[in-house]
Amino acid sequence: MKILTINSGSSSIKYQLFDMPSKRIIKKGFIERIGETGSKVKNHHEGIALILRNLPSVSAIGHRVVHGAEEFWKPTLIDDRVIAKIKRCSKLAPLHNPANLAGIMACRKILKHIPQVAVFDTAFHHSLPDFAYIYGLPYEYYKRFGIRKYGFHGTSHEYVAHEAAKKLNKPLNKLRLITCHLGNGCSITAVKHGKSMDTSMGFTPLEGLLMGTRCGDLDPAVVTYLQRRLNVSSEKMDEILNKKSGLIGVSGISNDMRKLFGAYKNGNKKAKLALEIFIYRIKKYIGAYAALLCGLDAIVFTAGIGENQAFIRNKVCQGLLPCLRKRPKVLVIPTNEELMIAKQTYEVIKR
Ligand code: ADP
Repeated sequence: MKILTINSGSSSIKYQLFDMPSKRIIKKGFIERIGETGSKVKNHHEGIALILRNLPSVSAIGHRVVHGAEEFWKPTLIDDRVIAKIKRCSKLAPLHNPANLAGIMACRKILKHIPQVAVFDTAFHHSLPDFAYIYGLPYEYYKRFGIRKYGFHGTSHEYVAHEAAKKLNKPLNKLRLITCHLGNGCSITAVKHGKSMDTSMGFTPLEGLLMGTRCGDLDPAVVTYLQRRLNVSSEKMDEILNKKSGLIGVSGISNDMRKLFGAYKNGNKKAKLALEIFIYRIKKYIGAYAALLCGLDAIVFTAGIGENQAFIRNKVCQGLLPCLRKRPKVLVIPTNEELMIAKQTYEVIKR
C-alpha cells in the first residue's frame, strides 16, 4: 500500500511517499515559499497539485495536524465532521491548524476517493493525568477557554519511545523512559509503560525548555510587567517570547546550535550562558520526571540537537546519572515523524 504523508505548513509543504508495511521511501520532497511574491506556487492547492502530479498512484494520505485539543487522541479518518472539529481546534493553534487544513482540503479536492487520516501532535499526550495538565488558574478558564497543558511533538516522542523499546529489547509497557526532542523547538516527555505522563510544552509550544527562539518556562508576572514597561501590544509580546528569546535572545548570536557552539568554543561568554541555561533546564526536567516515574530505564535523545550534539548530551548526563538509583541507559534515536504518520495511517486504513 502506498501511503503519502503531508506536513503542510503556512508557507511550505513537506511530503514522503512510503510503501507500507515495508516502510520503504518511494519519493520525498518539499515545496517552499508558497504564496510569497515571485513564487510559482500561489497557494496550498497548487502546491498539493504539483506534488501529486509527479507521484505514482497513492492508496491513502496521512496528514500532520498540530492541535487536536481534547477532541482527538488517536489517528482519525477524515470526514466532514472531523474537518469541522479540526477547524474548532484552530483557535488554539491559529498559526498551524489552518495551514494543516489547507493541505487536507486540497488533497480532498484533487483525490476525492482516497482515504485521508489526520495524525495529531498533541494526541500522544492525551494520557496526561489531570493534575499534570491543569494549571493553577481558576478552574472555569479550563472549562470556558480550554486553558490546560496539551503538549506537542507527540508523534516524535511516541516514535522514539517505540524505537527505544526495540533497542532495549523489552516491551514498551514495561519501560520508564524520558524522551528529549531537542530541535529548534525542544520538549521533554516522561513516558511510563508507553504512555505520556507529563511533558514540558504546555498550552502552546512556548512552555518548558529553552529553545532556539522561545523562552520556555518563565514567571508569568514577567510578561505583564514587560508589557507595561515596553508599552507593547500582546501581539508584540507574543513575538518577543516566541521569536526573540531562547538561545538567540540570551546569546544575541544565533538560534542555531551549531553557530552558538562555535561561538562558545571561541570563548564567547553569552554563548556559554545560553548553552548553560539550555543544559540546566534539560537536566532539571529529567530529574523531575525521573522522580515522578519512580525509576528510569533510559533517557532518549532525538532531533537536530539531540541526535548530533554529543557535547550537550554529555553535559546533561554529567552528574545526573550517578544521582539515579539505577543507572539508566542513554540512547540516541533519530526521530522519524513521517514514518510514524505513515504507520498510523496504514493502521487506520487496514482497520
Ligand atoms: P526542527 O525543530 O526545525 O525540525 P531540527 O530537528 O532540524 O529542527 O534541529 C535544529 C537544531 O539542530 C539547530 O539548532 C541545529 O543547529 C541543530 N543541528 C542540526 N544538525 C546538526 C549537526 N549535524 N550538528 C550539530 N547540531 C545540529
